[in-house]
Amino acid sequence: MIKADRVVSTTCPYCGVGCNLQVHVKDDYIFKVTSPFDAVVNQGNLCVKGRFGYDYVYHPKRVATPLIRKTPQKPGERTQAFDRDEWREATWDEALDYVADRLVEIYQRDGSDAMSVYCCAKATNEDNYLLQKMFRALFRTNNVDHCTRLCHAGSVVALQQAVGSSAMSNTASEVVHNDVLMVVGSNTSENHPIIALQMKKAIREHGAKLIVVDPRRIDLVDFAELWLPLKPGTNVPLLTAMAHVIVKEDLVDHEFIRNRTEGYEDFVESLEKFTPEYAEEISGVPADDIRKAARLYAEAENGAIYWGMGISQLSHGTASALALIHLAFLTGNIGRKGTGLNPLRGQNNVQGASDMGAMPFHYPGYMLVSEEGNAQKWEAAWNIEPGGLSRELGLTTTEILTHAHPGGVRALFIMGENPMMSEPNLNETRKHMQELEFLVSQDLFINESGAFADVFLPATPFAEKDGTFTNTDRRVQRVRQAHPPRGQARADWKIICDLAQRIESRLGRDTAKWDYASPEEVFAEMASVVPDFAGVTYERIEKTGLQYPVWDKEHPGTPFLFAEFFPRGRGKFTPLDYVPAVEPVDDEYPFILTTGRVLEHWHGGTMTRHSQLNTLYPEARVEIHPADAELHGISDGMAVKVTSRRGEIVVRASVTEKTTVGVVFLPWHFHEAAANLLTIDALDPQAKIPEFKACAVQVFPARDSDLPNPDVVLERGRY
Ligand code: SF4
Repeated sequence: MIKADRVVSTTCPYCGVGCNLQVHVKDDYIFKVTSPFDAVVNQGNLCVKGRFGYDYVYHPKRVATPLIRKTPQKPGERTQAFDRDEWREATWDEALDYVADRLVEIYQRDGSDAMSVYCCAKATNEDNYLLQKMFRALFRTNNVDHCTRLCHAGSVVALQQAVGSSAMSNTASEVVHNDVLMVVGSNTSENHPIIALQMKKAIREHGAKLIVVDPRRIDLVDFAELWLPLKPGTNVPLLTAMAHVIVKEDLVDHEFIRNRTEGYEDFVESLEKFTPEYAEEISGVPADDIRKAARLYAEAENGAIYWGMGISQLSHGTASALALIHLAFLTGNIGRKGTGLNPLRGQNNVQGASDMGAMPFHYPGYMLVSEEGNAQKWEAAWNIEPGGLSRELGLTTTEILTHAHPGGVRALFIMGENPMMSEPNLNETRKHMQELEFLVSQDLFINESGAFADVFLPATPFAEKDGTFTNTDRRVQRVRQAHPPRGQARADWKIICDLAQRIESRLGRDTAKWDYASPEEVFAEMASVVPDFAGVTYERIEKTGLQYPVWDKEHPGTPFLFAEFFPRGRGKFTPLDYVPAVEPVDDEYPFILTTGRVLEHWHGGTMTRHSQLNTLYPEARVEIHPADAELHGISDGMAVKVTSRRGEIVVRASVTEKTTVGVVFLPWHFHEAAANLLTIDALDPQAKIPEFKACAVQVFPARDSDLPNPDVVLERGRY
């Protein structure tokens, strides 16, 4: 039995649930992860990623020395260098001076619009706050974004529009107080496993009723009262038909409508055509089931809605989220414990990165960049001359790359993200990456995007740094260093401060202050300007964290929002129309492809594919329904080619009733069979989120020898 040198309490680096981890360390290696039964978020439960997925920290391919490309890269001819022989090792001084020189050269030649940065939903609040500060304060640009654009951007825009706040309204563990819960477009068991456990507990032990709205027969369907297997991309007609039933059958909470909302009359008028029969025709869900779901949710004492990417990752993601919000308004299922509108945020700190201003439209605290008063507050906080910060809205992640051309974006700094896996239509993304004049990657491994970089800055994972993450239900929690960084790797916040000082001196500007002694000081600077965090201190979040808003040092935090009013005043109804997915199926491409995650892996795979988790789930599989498989001569485990108008991959098929007829599913974690080679780059016009959940593909038999790794076979177990 190994005796730990120390046991360090920290927060899981994977999903937005934010489970507490106790990492057991011996000789500066983590050898075990546990969690205490009184952990406030997860009560001692951990999923396979949190329990076993920490070993990427010690993977031999992890980069722990600054690197510079041996061959200078030119726009249009930029290549990927995965091989370490194509890089030379550099000192930190040399690497940071080089990055500062090149960024300043491009900025002084082409101005603010040429500069851009991807912040990181896996990094801490402090890391993200500093990186957006660096680009805003020094390069005077709002071309600042991160992967929230690719996950819940539709939800964020809809919630801002309807209520004036974009976070989860309630606490995930309040699910045991729901008597009816609707889970829409969220494979919760694989993406937020501990919340799924709490949902099952609510059903088994507290008699809650579950409605699942999802094209796939996900695990939660086994626990559901009703499953509405809609065609991908038909949320708006289905959910609006539920609103139609609620209004027609007078299941409306009139007092709530009168006191708390606006726009109800126009909204009711817009419902006329959204009959359950109309929705059945479009979505494939029987009209009677739509009626039953509407009645069940509307008659609940405490009804709550939980949703995921199946709502937001569509070219009408904002409208889909609005359709859900309307249901809560109609029935008054918001503003009370055990109710609410709950977008389940994906990454460990996607909520925090958004809160910290890692977005093109907002400073920290969702303060619009275009409002003069907001800009003045941050100019004062960052010691910037009046009028110095840009008031122009910046470019989103999806737009930054499409603007990579002479006269547009020339320099991109990527902290911990991997657009060469996460963007749609990767063959196009590749061309955009090649057009960049200067690219910096700050990461752990040379991933598909870092391989394009000029300079690689080795950063630290969660186990080697201090700071905070904010989980999906707004809980700010501590991340603690378990052991020192490997090799010369440095914490992201330290790299950013060191680089910012070099840039500042080259620009000859007054200092915006970069000499922080600790992440705690960084957090305190942010909290001195953003009222939501005014009462959050490291001392107060030592044990269980605090759920913002926390208005002052005595405030206990806010488990649920909107008890008396919405931040925008009244909740706003918005009449909706049905807009189909951009690419319909046809004879050439007869299947709808929908993409997502599996339990064992995480996003582009930078962490989990360098972990023992990869041996548990080593290859991508395309799920196809038995009826479709038979028609196309496909058997379980057979190699198949999946093609779209944009690309093709070869994977094995899983023939399963988990997917529905006409719909195939692919996970997007596998670079050798990247699902995003197939996806379409159509965007939601407001949120600019791509349509990852619906495009047209063909599937036909291939040879085993066409597989990227023919010897690797998935045999999934249970953990
Ligand atoms: S549920 Fe999420 S936060 Fe919890 S252990 Fe799993 S990955 Fe980590």
